[in-house]
Parts: sequence; structure tokens; C-alpha cells
Amino acid sequence: MSRIVSQLVLAMLLLPALALAYTISFALFESLTRFSDEGSLFYAGLITFILVLLLWTLLWRSSIRWTGTRLGLTIGMTFGVVLATGGVGWLLGLAVGEEFGFFMWGALSSVLWPIGSILVWRETKGERMARLGGGTDGRVVLACPVCNYDLADQREAKCPECGGEFTLGGLMAAGDRDSESSISAGA
Ligand SMILES: [Zn+2]
Repeated sequence: MSRIVSQLVLAMLLLPALALAYTISFALFESLTRFSDEGSLFYAGLITFILVLLLWTLLWRSSIRWTGTRLGLTIGMTFGVVLATGGVGWLLGLAVGEEFGFFMWGALSSVLWPIGSILVWRETKGERMARLGGGTDGRVVLACPVCNYDLADQREAKCPECGGEFTLGGLMAAGDRDSESSISAGA
């Protein structure tokens, strides 16, 4: 099983595993403590939410590019999810019943937070360009094999500087050779 496949399978299994953790912790609070039903639901929901924060972050940590902006967005998104689901739970508590409100707060926050994290953690266009070997500003650099003129903005495989004409395959092969030789030169 490749790494990404195992990550995806674990991600799929996380939600049912969390539902189990929620059920078990609620049952334990009910039988071992003197909490009210609402209290047990609240603490079971809190434990489940903390588990999803830890396990989901642990699962994807190596695929996330941690910048200051992304860290700030993650923290802001977490507060947003807690406040929004808290509000929805409070309204449902008024409309349906307190126990249902506490239950839905726990369930909604643990489902919505991973969704929010996907939006915040996904690679931006600039990051993708940089990862694919672009310049420092995120642009792809495609040098003319003859004179090194940057051909990235050209609409045909012809160099306006030296007049050299190439096939797309030839330009790609030249680019691969360049990156290989710069890697071996650096090593
Ligand atoms: Zn050229």
C-alpha cells in the first residue's frame, strides 16, 4: 500500500472511529460520573473534537506546508467552527431540546473541522508552481537549450532570442537534463 493510499484509507476510517470514541466516552461519563446527560454529551463531544484535531493533523502533517498565514488561518478556522457549531447547537437546544443541542454540537464540530482544514491546508497555485520546479516567484523556468533565454511565456517552441526551433519533447528533455546536472553538480 503506498503512503497516500494508506493516508486516504485512515482518513476514511477516522470518522467512524471518532463516532465510536464519542459513544464510548459518553457511556463512561454516564456510568462513572455524576454528570447530567447534557454534561456527559458536552464532555464526550469535547473529547471527540480534541481527538479529531490531533489525529487529523497527525495524519496530514507531512503534506501541509506550514506558513505563518496557514497557521493563522487554521487557528481562525478552528475558532470559527467552534463558534458556528456552538451557535447551531444552542439554537437546536432551544428548538428541539438541550440534549440534542449538545449532541449536535459535538457531531457537527468534529465533521466540519476536517472539512475546514482541507480548505485551509490545500496547496495554493503559487506553492504548486514552486514545488514543480518554478522560480522563486512561483513561475516555471523553461530555458532555451541554446542561449538560456527564458521561453516560459512563449506560445511556440521557438526562441525569439537566438531563433532556435525545438520540439516540445526536446525542450522538456533539455529541462530534465539541466535539473539533473544541477542536482549532481550540487551533490
Ligand atoms: Zn535561444
